[in-house]
Amino acid sequence: MIQVERILVDIDETSAHTVRDGVYPIVNAQYWTNFHIETTLNYRDVFWDNISEGWILIPTERKIQIFNEAILQDRWKNHIQPIEWSVETIRGFHEWGGDVWMLTARHPILKEYTPEWIRHHYGDTVSRVLFSNCYHGGKRTKSDICREENAQIMIEDDMDYALEIAREKVLVLLLRKPWNEQRKETHRNIKRVDSWEDIDL
Ligand SMILES: [Mg+2]
Repeated sequence: MIQVERILVDIDETSAHTVRDGVYPIVNAQYWTNFHIETTLNYRDVFWDNISEGWILIPTERKIQIFNEAILQDRWKNHIQPIEWSVETIRGFHEWGGDVWMLTARHPILKEYTPEWIRHHYGDTVSRVLFSNCYHGGKRTKSDICREENAQIMIEDDMDYALEIAREKVLVLLLRKPWNEQRKETHRNIKRVDSWEDIDL
């Protein structure tokens, strides 16, 4: 048991099944591909660089567009489900008196729907939603926000973010995912956890 007052939680693939429920269904239908979350070994490459499956090449701009569209369309479809046990674990921490904020690098066009999705699935157990902006013309990174907001713990799925945040002396709980299992880096502030069920706050 760690004595914690505030945790910050990433959204995509840490709290939300954005890719499994939103992005891959669109990609697979439009491009006749068969992408599956369990065989996604490089999450960042899937989105931010060109990928090919068979003879299909999806340009980066189109992938970013699909990613944002998938989230915006969810407003009417409500298909993107929370990651298993995240709701229960966050609720438990909130009831104990802890503060949970979500922190994402999502595009500013998702600033309106993101808090709606969170409220729908997590109710009032998440008290703030913060957006880093270093990919969208600003300079504020996730690790800047962790430092400025005195985060004690950040829950993440992305090893690059985890390393950046761990250097700010924040304990990072890195959820085990196919795209971070291959990564061999270690840091004394990064602790790997198998799932939300294994997080004891
Ligand atoms: Mg993520």
